[in-house]
Amino acid sequence: MPHHDPFALRDLLGDDARLCRRALTGAPGVALPPLVDHHVHVHLIDEELLSTRGIAGVLDLGGDPTELARRARAGMPCVAYAGAFLTAPGGYPSGRSWAPPATVREVSDASAHPGVAGGAATAVDEQAAFGASVIKVALNAQAGPVLDSAAISTIVASAREHGLPVVAHVEGAGMTAVAIDAGIDALAHTPFTEVLDGSLIARAVALGQRWISTLDIHRDDPESARIARSNLERFAQAGGVVLYGTDLGNGDLPVGVNGRELVALHDAGISGAALLTTLTDPWPRAERSHAVAVFVPGDPPTDLDGIPRWLSGATVVPSEELIDDQESGDDRE
Ligand SMILES: [Zn+2]
Repeated sequence: MPHHDPFALRDLLGDDARLCRRALTGAPGVALPPLVDHHVHVHLIDEELLSTRGIAGVLDLGGDPTELARRARAGMPCVAYAGAFLTAPGGYPSGRSWAPPATVREVSDASAHPGVAGGAATAVDEQAAFGASVIKVALNAQAGPVLDSAAISTIVASAREHGLPVVAHVEGAGMTAVAIDAGIDALAHTPFTEVLDGSLIARAVALGQRWISTLDIHRDDPESARIARSNLERFAQAGGVVLYGTDLGNGDLPVGVNGRELVALHDAGISGAALLTTLTDPWPRAERSHAVAVFVPGDPPTDLDGIPRWLSGATVVPSEELIDDQESGDDRE
């Protein structure tokens, strides 16, 4: 099997990819850790399709906390969630057809006390009580009022008390700087409305901020695509942590692994093992699931450019269904 060279595979994809066969059929392929889409809206998609198309875990970044809390804990896909969007009164995304009232909390008071109507800490407490793994805040200056710095800092402090990271949607002039000043842990989208200067990108990297890619949502908007690519390219180059995410549920996107998102990441210089890492990072969970794995059938790619298309053939399987084909690999080290 000349194409089955574990060392070539490691060069291309890193240590997480293993040559394997399926137990039932003997079909050869590559085993990968569970793949995660770090930005979805489960209420807007047919989630049954995710696992057959390679996605084992998702992070829901805006939905009805009551509905999300009802989900089975052990289901597939594995869903972590933010619960409702926290925003200013009348701020994005309130009033949007895809964001019914149950999915939005308008924060009108920066109060750090519990049980305050419209209170910032109260809104965080509510999402935490419904099992949120992250807190989502909308900072969109192009679509209405935005929370002031007092409310943002209460949200961040309150999330810290619950041990939860904060994810921001930033859009409009100066909004990335606001998120960085506030110590926000992750951005729900690569910033796409302004080209950031190098010092701001360096501050985001130093903060350990994670950026969720969502490049493919700009495929019909070349200017936003150009800005996002420039920002992400330099963020990744400077050592920033990039997470694969598609904003699935927003417009017409393929359910499952999105090959166009992977191509866009690859074109922004995030390729090979680095590309795979954006998909296999379990954040905001601390650890990967070991119950399931991802199987990509057939021959592994032979060069970096072939990886995005190849990964689009991924499917989720129970881990015990894959037999390691790499037994000769370790003793040759
Ligand atoms: Zn979204």
